[in-house]
Amino acid sequence: MLLSLIVPCYNEQEALPLFYRETTKVLSSMDCDYELLLINDGSKDDTFAVMKELADADPRVLYFSFSRNFGKESAMYAGFCNARGDYIAVMDADLQDPPSLLPKMVKILQSGEYDSVATRRADRTGEPPVRSWFARKFYSLINRISDADIVDGARDFRLMSKDMKDAILSMSEYNRFSKGIFGWVGFRTYWLPFENVERIAGETKWSFWKLFNYAIDGIISFSQAPLSIASWFGITMTGLSFLFLLFIVIRKLLFGDPVAGWASTICVIVFIGGLQLFCLGIIGQYLAKTYMEVKNRPHYIISDTNADHAQKIR
Ligand code: UDP
Ligand code: MG
Repeated sequence: MLLSLIVPCYNEQEALPLFYRETTKVLSSMDCDYELLLINDGSKDDTFAVMKELADADPRVLYFSFSRNFGKESAMYAGFCNARGDYIAVMDADLQDPPSLLPKMVKILQSGEYDSVATRRADRTGEPPVRSWFARKFYSLINRISDADIVDGARDFRLMSKDMKDAILSMSEYNRFSKGIFGWVGFRTYWLPFENVERIAGETKWSFWKLFNYAIDGIISFSQAPLSIASWFGITMTGLSFLFLLFIVIRKLLFGDPVAGWASTICVIVFIGGLQLFCLGIIGQYLAKTYMEVKNRPHYIISDTNADHAQKIR
């Protein structure tokens, strides 16, 4: 049995050696072959040099270096494209995904009852409250309006069978939202909660706004519900305006027509103008995503690798 570990790395020069040491310690205690796929996502520090060093000392280390920063989603995709294992795992390089869970995860897959073992944070302690609030709202919203089953607190750390990996690869969309893709392909998934761990070295690449935009991307990738907002607004406004029309006609018949209502007219115009721009913006978001999909650009470009079988552009 061959186990492939996919590790996206962006500016992880401090964390990577520690990650390698911890992970190989666990892996060597397990009774299986493994390959470590280190994806260098256009790091600006010495991450790539560290990778090459590790690969020189250990033939089981494969490095794939991107020509620039393509983002973690693309790095994971490159890992899936190049992983040859029977079981495939995705792990962060900062040891926030404890390698000590791997033996248990492999055992669960080997039992044959599950196709995938996913992990999620047991709770959200240590996180800013505003961020937790937004996160919870995001999960309840996206689960209501899409058919991707996305679990609150799910991490990207998961072990899966080759079949599930192939299913994920068959979703070759350009705008990738892995949490949704993992849920969308289905399969029998075992959820393993664990205590949140702080990153071991370096710093997080996610600011609040990056996360916020990522959430919006997720919603747009997996739901068409926002597109129907315009129709609902439209129907409601039509109904209301009809009632208003009745009101004005009746008032005219009963009381005559003193010229008034300048302020209310402006309010209505501005309100409807705002709604129209808002809805246009939503359509624009979908159009922009569609535009990127239609261009059919590659997800990543590998400029340097030590794997002969590497798919360099895909
Ligand atoms: N990462 C990446 N490309 C990026 C940003 C991040 O490959 O553009 C990697 C990063 O090296 C790490 C993982 O994605 O292995 C998770 O990143 P991070 O720890 O910053 O995210 P957090 O754990 O804070 O959500
Ligand atoms: Mg992290």
